[in-house]
Amino acid sequence: MNSISRHDTETTCPYCGVGCGVSAQFSGAGLLSIKGSQQHPANHGRLCVKGSALKETLDSGSRLLFPMLRGRRVGATPAVKAVADGFNRIIARHGPDAVAFYLSGQLLTEDYYVANKLMKGFIGSANVDTNSRLCMASAVAGYKRAFGADAVPCNYEDLEQTDLLILVGSNAAWTHPVLYQRMVAAKAVRPHMKIVLIDPRATVTCDIADLHLPLRPGSDAFLFNGLLHYLARQEQRDVKFIAQSCTGLEAALAAANSCDPESVSRQTGLDRTVLLQFFAWFAGNKRVLSFYSQGINQSATGTDKCNAIINCHLLTGKIGKPGCGPFSITGQPNAMGGREVGGLANQLAAHMDFDPVSVDRLKRFWGSDKVATQPGLRAVELFDAIEAGTVKAVWIMATNPVVSLPEAERIRKALLACELVVVSDCVQRTDTTACAHILLPATPWGEKDGTVTNSERCISRQRPLRVATGEARHDWQWICAVAKEMGFSTGFDFTSSHEIFVEHAALSGFENEGQRAFDISGLKSLTVQQYDRLKPIQWPVNAGNPAGTARLFTDGKFFTPDRRARFVAVEPTLPLETSGKPRPFILNTGRLRDQWHTMSRTGEVTRLLRHTEGPTAAMHPDDVSAPGLGSGELVRLESDHGSIVVPLVSDAGLRRGSVFVPIHWNEHFSANARVSKLISSTVDPWSGQPESKFARISVAPVPVTCWAAFYSRRETDLQRFTYWHRVPAPGGNRFLLAAGPDCDFPEAFVHNLIQTLNAPELVSLQDATAGDYRYLLFDEDELVYAVFCHPRRRALPEPQWLEALAQVKRSKDNWLLLSGQDLTRPEKGRLVCSCYEVGVNQIQAAINSGARDHVALGNLLRCGTNCGSCIPELKQLLQQVGTPIT
Ligand code: SF4
Repeated sequence: MNSISRHDTETTCPYCGVGCGVSAQFSGAGLLSIKGSQQHPANHGRLCVKGSALKETLDSGSRLLFPMLRGRRVGATPAVKAVADGFNRIIARHGPDAVAFYLSGQLLTEDYYVANKLMKGFIGSANVDTNSRLCMASAVAGYKRAFGADAVPCNYEDLEQTDLLILVGSNAAWTHPVLYQRMVAAKAVRPHMKIVLIDPRATVTCDIADLHLPLRPGSDAFLFNGLLHYLARQEQRDVKFIAQSCTGLEAALAAANSCDPESVSRQTGLDRTVLLQFFAWFAGNKRVLSFYSQGINQSATGTDKCNAIINCHLLTGKIGKPGCGPFSITGQPNAMGGREVGGLANQLAAHMDFDPVSVDRLKRFWGSDKVATQPGLRAVELFDAIEAGTVKAVWIMATNPVVSLPEAERIRKALLACELVVVSDCVQRTDTTACAHILLPATPWGEKDGTVTNSERCISRQRPLRVATGEARHDWQWICAVAKEMGFSTGFDFTSSHEIFVEHAALSGFENEGQRAFDISGLKSLTVQQYDRLKPIQWPVNAGNPAGTARLFTDGKFFTPDRRARFVAVEPTLPLETSGKPRPFILNTGRLRDQWHTMSRTGEVTRLLRHTEGPTAAMHPDDVSAPGLGSGELVRLESDHGSIVVPLVSDAGLRRGSVFVPIHWNEHFSANARVSKLISSTVDPWSGQPESKFARISVAPVPVTCWAAFYSRRETDLQRFTYWHRVPAPGGNRFLLAAGPDCDFPEAFVHNLIQTLNAPELVSLQDATAGDYRYLLFDEDELVYAVFCHPRRRALPEPQWLEALAQVKRSKDNWLLLSGQDLTRPEKGRLVCSCYEVGVNQIQAAINSGARDHVALGNLLRCGTNCGSCIPELKQLLQQVGTPIT
């Protein structure tokens, strides 16, 4: 490894919005290990399985190392010139609003700042939006409506200090695992602390819940309006706080007037007794914290849902105090940092809006007379404009919209027809880079250098562990080079991330005078050394709060013109999507424990795919047992916008009529599993956030005549298969394949494989009656392909056994591997504990031999003793065999 550090380096995890600190430890030979940082306030030494596997991701996957122009490698200079000339040409012909940037919560704040400065400050368009629009835009809009600012009141310690923790639309055990572990630990220390989970699914997070409210999908605003109504009737108002610090209560109460418990029970499908229990707990506890995430935000009424939650906290004054508040948790590592610098199309930098005073202020600060004067296109609108041809050039940075945006196939077609698509990424092959005319190699985590802000307003340094590989550059360096080539001679002379950060910090305090929540002017004079040594610190950081600010609104003052918080009158509605066709199921989407976004990093680490190795559609067992369906069988899910094909699995935690599909899989990991193809581009009118957790779909069986387990060292054309998914394996990849009735398999497929070999040797075993075909194909000494086919999926070899074949050399005894070999003999089985690679078969054996709780399992097998993410699943396995749960 090309290290630039021989000393332990404190940096930050690049995945979720928890923003855990990471200690990279070096030895003489290079990077030795990655551990959770003991000093970081987000995690105090903990890491989840994704963070623990960061070292394995540093050199995995297909890095983009050189600029590419229409598929040809070029130098940095012609690449920069091509981008600049393309943007200038289109701006000259069609004006500045014909170009756009689409950014990412994976960028560092410094990258974001420069991108926003170029587009909004110098090109003169506000067409800058970000994938954070898909994650937390509704939370932002909700905060702005209520508090006058995109300002998260709480911090992570509040999770431990609260008496009632309400998890709304969050499977925290998988999506924010380190915070979940903090909740588990807090509940162990303070057993009286109650936890309520509000989620249509009974997820693994139920493990710590005292009460689960499995409400009807999308009915959250009815529930919280019902809570507001109840609290008002029960005289739970904080009269003094409301009088001094709030406005708009009467209208909010009037809007909630019809939400009595009976009506809420009808709308949400929740039992009235359970509802009243929840309401009574909210009323009866002084310290109440609502922790909400994508289950609330990703909705056509997400902003209203956020305000319905916030209203309850304002009514009771449960905000601005320890253990209290409405706490939105972001999915992405730097969603908040992006918002600080104006990464969303409807904001300027440093939390400024498009009012004339703010525009003028920015003009003077940046020394530019071209600052955009009105909001630009938000993500869905932006890609609609690309499709319509009004936006003719787009620069996409560090994100994969062909997988993540709704109506994803339409997005792909729009990009393929766009006049100029520039993509900067650290990965060469994604569904989006395939649409680009120009590719710019960006530095990834481990090479990047700058800052990120996590969900609790905590700014942390992301420090490099090695120099940039190949011709990769930081995103801000590419942007500055393009800006200068476009003719912007001033404003983009930055030579380090430090220079960008101090300008950003200075802007945050420029003519602020307490008007804007985001103020880190206390950091504007950092020297290079101070910036390098910057410790995690929560904004605001200014003259009044030089050491940062743990909690906002402690003085009852907000950021509205009259400094009062606003109640918002919320008129709840259920999701509106309809279809002219029979679509009896409701689709929900979300994240899995061991994967991140579109898998470009986590998907290349084999052990992170051992918990769930391929895409699935999960349904209630009674739905799975319907005629024609079955667990493990293929199904086609179809909405009005597209279809995907994935295997079906049974999940008793789902409501009847619901289907859950993970968001991660894309066309580099599976044939046809981009779930965003099914999602409509309906958005929340306030936030522009799409309704990613609701679509009406049909579910139909897909006939399979033959399943196959396939190991390959070479790239192979898999188009003939109805289904495939890929898992990286030693020296190559292994696949699960499914062939339909029209597929000429396996003979023609194996014949084609043989054609790719120089000195082929084929070892085979064929039982045509049973449909059992097994092939090993060697080239010279090396096993290059292994193919095992059977009509029954369960008759295929275990994944680990198949991967071990990579070691096999050509020999006269190779037939023994096929003949008489029990390929299905139990091995570890599916990994439950990814940290210590403990499989379900080992755990079941330990339970059968007397392990009675997860602690005993941990003592025997180490499972659950590192990040703890698998403990809920260990408990489920214990429960399945009737072991008392502890
Ligand atoms: Fe990274 Fe996991 Fe921490 Fe999220 S919880 S920041 S993914 S280590």
